[in-house]
Amino acid sequence: VQRNPGEAEFHQAVEEVLHSIEPVIEKYPKFAKAKIIERMFEPERQIMFRVPWVDDKGEVQINRGFRVQFNSTLGPFKGGLRFHPSVYLGIVKFLGFEQIFKNALTGLPIGGGKGGSDFNPKGKSDLEVMRYCQSFMSELYRHIGPDIDVPAGDIGVGAREIGYMFGQYKRIRNGYEGGVLTGKGLSYGGSLVRTEATGYGLIYFVREMLAAHGHDFSDKRIVISGSGNVAIFANEKVTTYGGKVIAMSDSQGYVVDENGINLNTIKKIKIEKRGRIREYVDYHPEAKFVEGCKNIWDIKCDIALPCATQNDIELVHAEKLVANGCLAVGEGANMPCTNEAVTYFIEKGVLVAPAKAANAGGVATSALEMAQNSMRYHWTFEEVDSKLQNIMKNIFKTAKEACEEYGIEGNYVSGANIAGFTKVATAMMDQGIV
Ligand code: NDP
Repeated sequence: VQRNPGEAEFHQAVEEVLHSIEPVIEKYPKFAKAKIIERMFEPERQIMFRVPWVDDKGEVQINRGFRVQFNSTLGPFKGGLRFHPSVYLGIVKFLGFEQIFKNALTGLPIGGGKGGSDFNPKGKSDLEVMRYCQSFMSELYRHIGPDIDVPAGDIGVGAREIGYMFGQYKRIRNGYEGGVLTGKGLSYGGSLVRTEATGYGLIYFVREMLAAHGHDFSDKRIVISGSGNVAIFANEKVTTYGGKVIAMSDSQGYVVDENGINLNTIKKIKIEKRGRIREYVDYHPEAKFVEGCKNIWDIKCDIALPCATQNDIELVHAEKLVANGCLAVGEGANMPCTNEAVTYFIEKGVLVAPAKAANAGGVATSALEMAQNSMRYHWTFEEVDSKLQNIMKNIFKTAKEACEEYGIEGNYVSGANIAGFTKVATAMMDQGIV
């Protein structure tokens, strides 16, 4: 805490992992002797930079850009870019730190990193967003590359922003380095299934977890927070398994539709129009809009899928969910539950699919995009989707085996932390003191 003052989210993420790995450190004293924890918790490199740009009124604006290159033991740094006014170093570090273990769990050769900016793309014109992305990349380009660091999207960074950043990178660099960014458009090197991957992957993971405890999705009442990329495709997949999504949200409020949320309407409002979720009731007057996003967890449900942002479910919300008979929580967003909420769920026997494992489908498919770019080839939707399903099954199996090895059956939060940490720590030992 003293070494990283004011970085509350980073402290929170570290605390969770430290707590989980205590038995590993006890079992393998060599990790402590080699100061693996101290090394792993310090980023290899962190970059902060000025991003000047000119808005449509001709006024000069200044934002701050970040890239934290946390750990390259297993492969090039890999992790998304977040554009949101709340972004500061503590957020980028928590995300980059979690990314190390998540990427290790995928079994693919990728290290961990994350970046972003306090720029708010909401309410900006396409041209403003383009100028911003070009200015951002004019600095970032010198720190990244297909074998160095490969950014992708996150909150506020979708195909549009990736396209503008890729265009600027290509213009600066002499050569076509397709694998420098993932989440690209399909017309210039993107992978099929990347758009759907995090949401679909979450459902594949939760499905495995439910099956291991004798449950499935059919006829379950499901509440999903958020209505962005992860939330939309989690909804799409869970519905095919018979789940009924009755509520979704955005940062202003939530809609409840007891007939089941109409996903085409959500896609129209959020993807085509970049609008607000409150507009849902204009299309479905029988549904209800509630101002404020937090009370969504008061709704009675069997399965909660927080897919918006960090610290969405606090202890009070966890208590409400448990009182209403919630059976499982699948973390689509990064760190959507506070540590107190997770501890409470586990105490009460609620199954928790932890973000590091459950939302790894996005980055795994990004790694498949990198593989296709290297081969100068592309796989079909079915090929990528089947690889994604296998990866998510394997991540579940890995977390479950770690639970069994350490006698913490059912605690997939600790199981995932232990498995990810052990993999990276072992590789760091092999690579010497670096
Ligand atoms: P999007 O920008 O597509 O959507 C984010 C959604 O969350 C929107 O509905 C947004 O509402 C809501 N939201 C964002 N910030 C807040 C906030 N402070 N309070 C309440 N609601 C908020 O992002 P993604 O769907 O890509 O990302 C969602 C989460 O999933 C993040 O935690 C991200 O790190 C994580 N994730 C994403 C991956 C990906 O592949 N995209 C991969 C792995 C994890 P509004 O529209 O009002 O802003």
